[in-house]
Amino acid sequence: MKVIDISMTISPDMEMYPGEPGPVITRISKLESGDQYNVSQLILGTHTGTHVDPPLHLIEGGAGIDDMPLDMLVGPARVIDLSHIQNDIEPADIGDVEPGEILLLKGKEGGVRLTTAVAQYLMDNGIKTVGTDALSIGAAGEEYEVHTVLLGADIAVVEGLVLSAVEAGQYLFVCLPLKVATGDGGPARVVLIEQ
Ligand SMILES: [Zn+2]
Repeated sequence: MKVIDISMTISPDMEMYPGEPGPVITRISKLESGDQYNVSQLILGTHTGTHVDPPLHLIEGGAGIDDMPLDMLVGPARVIDLSHIQNDIEPADIGDVEPGEILLLKGKEGGVRLTTAVAQYLMDNGIKTVGTDALSIGAAGEEYEVHTVLLGADIAVVEGLVLSAVEAGQYLFVCLPLKVATGDGGPARVVLIEQ
């Protein structure tokens, strides 16, 4: 069994979605200052690094991160390599998908960002979860529509995956976001297990 970590490392200088502040990590108890232990305080946006978007991200009254069924985030998944595509991704690039699938999309630098047409294609085919290596799954100018289509259809969205070293194929996907009460997003440690 091989475990592949596909999570971003949380650090103050990590890549963030434009306009969002980076993490603040402050050591509040220090061995080097004579304290008995090292402990830090973490100030973190709910959409920092590799994270899950629950319905509540865009839909008032939608499920928060603590209410998402974990079987949406743990199970067999398929990585699709789209890194050779330079233009917008088309439904044909993704190909046939099965209802209930967990799809993970690997793109060129900057990651896979979907048009509304592709989001609708995924919704129409009844997928369960979509993950991307981009920090936002929506194409520029279509972020809101794409999120609304996916989250409105109760499709789990995982953003900021690290897929550059992952080959296309089948894996066991394990994505466990922090359980924040009525959280509108959840930073997550995500791994693929090769069986
Ligand atoms: Zn997000």
